[in-house]
Amino acid sequence: MVHSPVRPSPRSGAPSSPAFDICIRGGGIVGHTLALLLARDRLRIALYTPKAPPGAAPRPEDVRAYALNGASRELLQSLRVWPDEAQATPVRRMEVFGDEGGLVQFDAEAQNLDALNWIVDVPALEQRLAQAVQYQAHVELVDEPVPAALTLVCEGRESATRAEFGVRYSAAAYGQRGIAARFKTELPHRMVARQWLSPQDRQGEVLALLPLGGPAGQEVALVWSAADAHAQELQALPDDEFAARVMQACGHALGTLTLSSARAQWPLQMALADRWVGPGFALAGDAAHTVHPLAGQGLNLGLGDAATLAAIIHARAPHRALGDLQLLRRYERARKLDTHAMRAATDGLFQLFAQTPAPVRSLRNWGMQLFNHSGPLKQWVTRRAVGL
Ligand SMILES: Cc1cc2nc3c(=O)[nH]c(=O)nc-3n(C[C@H](O)[C@H](O)[C@H](O)COP(=O)(O)OP(=O)(O)OC[C@H]3O[C@@H](n4cnc5c(N)ncnc54)[C@H](O)[C@@H]3O)c2cc1C
Repeated sequence: MVHSPVRPSPRSGAPSSPAFDICIRGGGIVGHTLALLLARDRLRIALYTPKAPPGAAPRPEDVRAYALNGASRELLQSLRVWPDEAQATPVRRMEVFGDEGGLVQFDAEAQNLDALNWIVDVPALEQRLAQAVQYQAHVELVDEPVPAALTLVCEGRESATRAEFGVRYSAAAYGQRGIAARFKTELPHRMVARQWLSPQDRQGEVLALLPLGGPAGQEVALVWSAADAHAQELQALPDDEFAARVMQACGHALGTLTLSSARAQWPLQMALADRWVGPGFALAGDAAHTVHPLAGQGLNLGLGDAATLAAIIHARAPHRALGDLQLLRRYERARKLDTHAMRAATDGLFQLFAQTPAPVRSLRNWGMQLFNHSGPLKQWVTRRAVGL
């Protein structure tokens, strides 16, 4: 990620009161987005992310690619940081395969949508955000946390500041790791995102191949949520054997796959902070909640937090201080409902496909077929998932 030079803090010229209205701790996508949104209100924002210690190993190649929905796209477009089409590939169709013939297809055209979602190259988006912050006079990158009326904690799932504020974070591990990598494909992806639930009888695992490189691209992002031991085995395989395993698991859906990146992996968990706000602070993004990536909704939720929090701060009455607890509680109430619904949906789907008894397996695949032809129900679910 490109960083603008770190400027000294606090600013000179305002010795008696804090130089900043808001300190954002954590310069991930959620932290940067919040900084740019709040700067529109001419608030003075400090954005803090710790620098790598001297002598630290260079950052590994960033292979992340995320599915972002229409609401996230609109938000990022309003900040002029949405990447070009080559780095934000529209998904026109989605195919979800069960383990015993179940199939659900979602089609953008059938829903009168341009796309169901967009597969975004994360390094490209982060670069756009960093550049935008560099040109935003109301945001300063600082080299340590600074005093401010409001502290926004956007430090991701491993947040340390969250505990400093006395917030408990309950996390339940899925016993899986999300493996990410990129492949060149023999056949064009045709803007179709494909997902296999419990592939090759590996109950509860999910393999997704997401289109990259624009509408005519011949590249995909792999996200394979694999059981811990299986993930370790996959990670250790030579490149060609790893590619062969992926081709087998997806039934050669895109012809020959050639690994074109490093492999990265993350432990998967469902987690929630017991409170998201307190006097003078609020949590947003993964610092407040994480969900299983099978529905590709974690960052969409985080960007929803950013949009809601910025809107509530923008609309506050003039007498309300930025750190006012009543004000911040409005944000927590507004976001918890959406987050709970998404947690329940993704965890429910995960649990359903982690079940091994044969009757359950038949039933879930039958349920997929039924859902695929369910008309209004399918339309309702699709429109919620795309952020409408
Ligand atoms: C395998 C996988 C696939 C996924 N796919 C999708 C998808 O398709 N769609 C989707 O919407 N979501 C997806 N997600 C979820 C998504 O990755 C997260 O929800 C998102 O990255 C959260 O962003 P964030 O800014 O809140 O946190 P992070 O991205 O974790 O950023 C936190 C930032 O804070 C910094 N930081 C950490 N500690 C401190 C500290 N003490 N002080 C200051 N700064 C600190 C970090 O260096 C980092 O820059 C996926 C997740 C995984 C694991």
